[in-house]
Amino acid sequence: MPIDTGRIEAAVAELIAAIGEDPTRAGLRSTPHRVAQAYSEFFAGLDVDPLSHLSETVDLAEGETGEAVIVRDIEFRSICEHHLLPFLGVAHIAYVPDAKVVGLGRLPRVVDTLASRPQLQERLTEEIADAIDRGIAPLGVLVVLDAVHQCVSSRGPRQAGSSTVTVASRGKLSETSSRAEIISLIGGPHW
Ligand code: ZN
Repeated sequence: MPIDTGRIEAAVAELIAAIGEDPTRAGLRSTPHRVAQAYSEFFAGLDVDPLSHLSETVDLAEGETGEAVIVRDIEFRSICEHHLLPFLGVAHIAYVPDAKVVGLGRLPRVVDTLASRPQLQERLTEEIADAIDRGIAPLGVLVVLDAVHQCVSSRGPRQAGSSTVTVASRGKLSETSSRAEIISLIGGPHW
């Protein structure tokens, strides 16, 4: 279903009125429209199949299998479904190819599509792992997300420096030893 921007605009005007502000004053007049545009962007992944980004794969030649491919620091923005506030961070993705690999630029698209929906970080991590598992059929997948949630940093506990790390793994990369090796390779300032 396409995003109904007119409905978002009406809802935002109502929200502004509900906090006791005047939605018709100069500074707020265009706000419902701007928010509707932003929401269209935030939730643009609802109608997109993440597997569509993984439809073009490259077959590996015999003997070319086995070593992990790691893409680190894929920046993402998602919206927490409990508060409709953004959470921002990076995704690190590793997979061990079996018969095929995918263009490295495809992985950030999978992340962006799944992140552009009302989300929970835990579920987003699992959904990215599932999409790669189904789309590339690798021997193993490991996904690590590290994000700062505005519902934690700007309201409630107000922990501006606190980030949340979630991990999802499939196949060979669910094994403790392989997983530890990949996590040490991901390394970097977030660890
Ligand atoms: Zn939240």
